[in-house]
Amino acid sequence: MAPPKPKKYTKFRDVQAEILKSGSAIFRDANGVESLIVDSPYSIRYIHSYAEDSPFFLGLAGGKLMGSKCTGCGFVYATPRGHCMECGEPTEWLELPNSGRVHAWTTCQFGSEAFLKDTPYNLCLVEFDGAGSLLLARLKDCTQDQIWIGMPVVAKFSATPKYSITDVWFVPKK
Ligand SMILES: [Zn+2]
Repeated sequence: MAPPKPKKYTKFRDVQAEILKSGSAIFRDANGVESLIVDSPYSIRYIHSYAEDSPFFLGLAGGKLMGSKCTGCGFVYATPRGHCMECGEPTEWLELPNSGRVHAWTTCQFGSEAFLKDTPYNLCLVEFDGAGSLLLARLKDCTQDQIWIGMPVVAKFSATPKYSITDVWFVPKK
């Protein structure tokens, strides 16, 4: 007996859900083209160095947001940089506040492997007092219609850190 035909969907979000459930689905696009999509898990072992970025990830594991401050002009980067984009001088590490405000945000309908099971999810650019640049992170514990520009948010850190950017996310500040 032939296996059941994969179910057809016109929204990729529905395809994702079906793939997770049954391992295959057909995506029908706006032109009526039907593509068979299958789940073919594979894994690689990726041993790599964070090099000069290491304090950022060690900070997340310790419940700290580490930014950097220019040793020349004093510009503060919420997304750390080795050298200043304003004047070119090296930077030094600086602990950022754990709370800030939503500068901009978007809803992601698709994501890379680490985020796939959370889609759709919200991403926000967070601004901090005393910092001249922004930090991109997930925004959890709120729905789209509850988010507003300038909304106070606070960082949450994974209790089981994986030394990854997924070790931190933001939630509305209560
Ligand atoms: Zn500078």
